[in-house]
Amino acid sequence: MVRSALLGAARSDRLRHTVERLPLTRNAAARYVGGAEQSDVVRVAGELAGEGLAVTIDHLAEDVRDRARATAVAQAYVTLLEALHKAELTTDVEVSVQLSALGRALPADGPAIALENAQQICQAAADAGTTVTVDMEDHTTTDATLDVVRDLRADFPDVGAVLQAHLKRTEADCRDLAHAGSRVRLCKGAYDEPESVAYRDRGDVDRSYVRCMKVLFAGDGYPMIATHDPRLVEIAGSLAARHRREQGSYEYQMLYGIRGREQRRLVRAGERVRVYVPYGPEWYGYLVRRLAERPANLSLFLRSVASS
Ligand code: FAD
Repeated sequence: MVRSALLGAARSDRLRHTVERLPLTRNAAARYVGGAEQSDVVRVAGELAGEGLAVTIDHLAEDVRDRARATAVAQAYVTLLEALHKAELTTDVEVSVQLSALGRALPADGPAIALENAQQICQAAADAGTTVTVDMEDHTTTDATLDVVRDLRADFPDVGAVLQAHLKRTEADCRDLAHAGSRVRLCKGAYDEPESVAYRDRGDVDRSYVRCMKVLFAGDGYPMIATHDPRLVEIAGSLAARHRREQGSYEYQMLYGIRGREQRRLVRAGERVRVYVPYGPEWYGYLVRRLAERPANLSLFLRSVASS
């Protein structure tokens, strides 16, 4: 119940405007969001890189419904990549993009506009010496997203794909994508999906995640294990050992502000760990979705709003 109330709050424009006006730095959102401005996230990325963590940065943008906004989001990525390059951070720092933020849902030619914007970002990333990963959204977009990844890889072979273990199709998708040079982020899946396409039971999702990891670790690609789940992190380590994979031939990924101690423990153990850092003025929807995953964090957030 708390989860669906929070997901409803994520869609409330009034609440969004009130909360987004609060200064991010004095607010619990700062724990999960790398800042409202580009300069904030470049600083955060530099601090994380200084601790031996790799980073992927997501420019938050919701409800992109016109072409000018989609172009502005793509441009924000281009200037971000230039700033990261200037700060000499692009060995450790890449970007993550959502095709919806690049215009996929626009009425005319949305998919073509999103592809064009993604190509522009990939070119900027290549110029800066780094990579792009294409986030996965809800199941109605899975095929279209994988098609875009395939098109992008024709020119930029190191573009990362994302697969969601809660979808029943994903083990087969892992097989298709576990080839040499293929970077694949495996996550559980953040969207509320119907039983016809997704496992709804947490145990079933976890078992699917393990089956998918087995495929990815046995293959020739580069698995990116995106989870905070301690059991799955441990199983990933065992699979890496079983397949005699060297550290650095796969990586762990976690969200900014979640299980930070574990991120640093893995780095000390010699593992490659990448932190997903979202930023931008439109941080409200992202924050509420993170709170919905773990309502225990809600009181922390409400206290910080009350004292702002
Ligand atoms: P869970 O079972 O949700 O959590 C395991 C444990 O992690 C919990 O018991 C708790 O200890 C800790 N934890 C989890 N969430 C929180 C929290 N909010 N606050 C504090 N502790 C917490 N999903 C997509 O659909 N598409 C994507 O492109 C995508 N990209 C992602 C990229 C990265 C790097 C990561 C880490 C996740 C991404 N996700 C994406 C989200 C993912 O699908 C899950 O919704 C999210 O990671 C929670 O699942 P979990 O594997 O951590 O397991």
